[in-house]
Amino acid sequence: MNDTKMTRRRALMAGVVGLAAAPLVAGSAFAEPSTNAVKVYLDPGHGGSDPGAVGNGLQEKNLTLDIALRTRTLLQARGATVRMSRTSDIARSLDWRVQDANAWGANLFVSIHINAGGGTGFESYRYTSTGSGTVNAHNILHPAVLSGMRSVASVTDRGKKTANFYVLRYTSMSAILTENLFIDRASDAALLGRADFRAGIARGHSNGIAQILGL
Ligand SMILES: [Zn+2]
Repeated sequence: MNDTKMTRRRALMAGVVGLAAAPLVAGSAFAEPSTNAVKVYLDPGHGGSDPGAVGNGLQEKNLTLDIALRTRTLLQARGATVRMSRTSDIARSLDWRVQDANAWGANLFVSIHINAGGGTGFESYRYTSTGSGTVNAHNILHPAVLSGMRSVASVTDRGKKTANFYVLRYTSMSAILTENLFIDRASDAALLGRADFRAGIARGHSNGIAQILGL
């Protein structure tokens, strides 16, 4: 981590702490948490008429929603305010997701997906050209998710990657997209079908997001 990144990281942390401390400065014990809390936007991929990837009796849209809902519960317990692009099996366009997160003013955007195409394991993405804040967030979230998975089962690390994905390009805050195993690989799908493994994925996301935002 170079000096510039360290400075940005400190600035981010200071900003978060400053927001959290604001109600105490104002002398109110009953401040509205919704106006001061750290805002996390979770984006379960696909939904409704778009199942995403399918394989081994599973549909990506159902897995991403389950993982996102579990992650939301964990983050809310840590005091975060969480908004999701969908909380049920409905279709949302990529542009709707981006505009919703931008209008809400999220501090961090995390899109949750399941991979396909014959590989195995976990990989994650940031936009091809980002600031140091997003690079730092990626560097924290990737190993955290992997650790959550590995607390349950052995998982291949495919590494941190960059891509020109719509939700990464057009979000105005730091944004990371996770590809959580391969639905068309039988051994990966067997893990994805287990509630305890999905809970591990969610734990990893929650731990990483909490570390990024100082929760
Ligand atoms: Zn997807």
